[in-house]
Amino acid sequence: MFGTNGVRGIINEDFTIELVLNLSRAVGSLLGPGLVGIARDSRMGGEMFTQVVTSGLTSTGCSVVNLGLVPTPTLQYMIPRLGCIAGIMVTASHNPPQFNGIKVLGSNGIEISRETETRIELIYHSNEFKIADWNKVGQVTHYDSAIDVYLEGIKSHIDVDKIKNKKLKVIIDCANSVGGLVTPRLLRELGCTVVSLNSQLDGSFPGRNPEPIPENIKDLALTVRVTGADLGIAHDGDADRATFVDETGRVLWGDQSFALIASRVLAKKHGSTLVTPVSSGRLIEDVALKAGAKMDWTAVGSVDVSHRLEETGAELGGEENGGVFYPPHQPVRDGAMTAAQVVEMIALEGKTLSEIVSELPTYFNTKVKVPVPQEKKESLLKKLLDLTKDMNRITLDGVKIIHDEGWFLIRPSGTEPIYRCFAEGASQETADRLSEEGVKLIERAKELT
Ligand code: MG
Repeated sequence: MFGTNGVRGIINEDFTIELVLNLSRAVGSLLGPGLVGIARDSRMGGEMFTQVVTSGLTSTGCSVVNLGLVPTPTLQYMIPRLGCIAGIMVTASHNPPQFNGIKVLGSNGIEISRETETRIELIYHSNEFKIADWNKVGQVTHYDSAIDVYLEGIKSHIDVDKIKNKKLKVIIDCANSVGGLVTPRLLRELGCTVVSLNSQLDGSFPGRNPEPIPENIKDLALTVRVTGADLGIAHDGDADRATFVDETGRVLWGDQSFALIASRVLAKKHGSTLVTPVSSGRLIEDVALKAGAKMDWTAVGSVDVSHRLEETGAELGGEENGGVFYPPHQPVRDGAMTAAQVVEMIALEGKTLSEIVSELPTYFNTKVKVPVPQEKKESLLKKLLDLTKDMNRITLDGVKIIHDEGWFLIRPSGTEPIYRCFAEGASQETADRLSEEGVKLIERAKELT
């Protein structure tokens, strides 16, 4: 049931109130009794599913505190502060509007581990739920100050006065979702002039697709350029990610904003550690090594990064899609915190965002999909591990082959009957050549499977 990050599906088709009810009963049965924090983004069916989550949890004896419409990182921030034993966020993150979903969070606010997911699935499929006695059914309360507390938390980690003096002009595209409730307000409180695009909450997402990738945020890029703003910020549907646009209207790749923050955070303490999935590239490695930091690779997925940060106390985590985890605030992806860090960087360094980005080396990449029948995906991975055993590689998730001039990563898709090959090099030709090498390896393994 659980994918890379939670359970998701099309509303009233494969993501139904029956599924959500029993999933919530399973969560309450395993993690309860105790107080569970819940919240939702602006998606269609959000209120309906929140009510079902409330019924499921309270029937098992858990009490519920409902934070209403807030970003995922706001709920995550509040879970330990409200003394919750768990959390449920109703969101499908960056998926298209017909989707909704659920993220299950532990008492520290981090998405639950894979093992806990499996235990919840077992209870779900067994249909054996805890049923509270009539006088032990849970209570329901509402908490309206989550955003106030969360924004104060973010501001405690940045130089508020320096940012205020700079009076930056910022355009924010909120994707008609809950990011619009936090980031425009945060930046106004930091003395910025803020113009919001798509800031009215609307679960049909009329403004744009909620994934903050370049093709979806062209309006933002254009608005930044024609209005002479200092930067643009775009969030995904639940505002755990932020994508940036420089003052020329160029959209920064996620690994660039992550690298900018990493180079500054890691340089503060010699011997810091950076946690990142194997899908991250040389740029991140370059800035980490330059700052005297160590790399700590994980499998692909924000959940793996968060748990590693929690276990090791590492200084920073991040993903190549622009997710940044800043543990002094909280060890989860946080779009508004990331926005505050980029705005602070511009204010402190007295340079434009494009000037700051131009300090980074450039790499090129190639992405290819190779069809592999679903039933062959696992045995093919075994063959790939065999074929590459004498190469310089990382095998935490798929196979990552490392050469001097670049690298490629081969992984089975979690959902589709394909293998993905992602290659990176210092030139486009190198990236293409590495990608061909990767595809050939997959084809060879296919023949042998
Ligand atoms: Mg998200």
